[in-house]
Amino acid sequence: MAKRLAEITKELCVACGSCVKVCPRNAISIHQGKYAQVDESKCIGCSLCAKECPASIITIKKVEVVA
Ligand code: SF4
Ligand code: SF4
Repeated sequence: MAKRLAEITKELCVACGSCVKVCPRNAISIHQGKYAQVDESKCIGCSLCAKECPASIITIKKVEVVA
């Protein structure tokens, strides 16, 4: 089974918080005020955060999960 997850290029993140606000699952948090990180157990791969990111550094990846 494949699952979609948001992936953030944290080196390019400016910690603006836009993705945090838009996530319907509260899956994103800002780590030590420096970069956003995704809680993969909460993310449903909806891509709202990717659309919102002003730096366009969030991509949606497909990962295989063992059901
Ligand atoms: S893809 Fe959707 S659920 Fe996952 S972190 Fe982004 S906004 Fe949240
Ligand atoms: S919207 Fe983009 S730049 Fe802003 S905190 Fe999220 S990942 Fe970082």
